[in-house]
Amino acid sequence: MNQESNNLVENIEVYVPMGMFGARKDYLLEAMIRAIAEYHSKDEGEWSDKYGTAVDNCVFSMRPYCWCESEDCRWCGEEGAPNFHHKPSDFKVWWYKYIGRGMQYNKELTAIECAEILSECLKIRDN
Ligand SMILES: [Zn+2]
Repeated sequence: MNQESNNLVENIEVYVPMGMFGARKDYLLEAMIRAIAEYHSKDEGEWSDKYGTAVDNCVFSMRPYCWCESEDCRWCGEEGAPNFHHKPSDFKVWWYKYIGRGMQYNKELTAIECAEILSECLKIRDN
């Protein structure tokens, strides 16, 4: 093999159907947050199901990824506030730029806990 054919081999990309290797661990959580964001969004142009939306009530708070990089910012600064916080269970989620990307959370949820949080967050009405 010459050098050119070696380069061709290195550039192969393989696409597989979503779910082929089983469910992704965060799939339910990601779907839950997207649904909550879309439900509470007041701005159709903000792409809430992708980025989240700004909402704060007695059940949960949500805030899209912040780009300000200010040290005084709750999300960018030392506090590192979560992008999603379910207050009764103290469940917190952080993501990078859009929901699902680099997502981190402070504890694992069972499917039933996820369903309960989703239900509570959809029942609460914003002012
Ligand atoms: Zn910020």
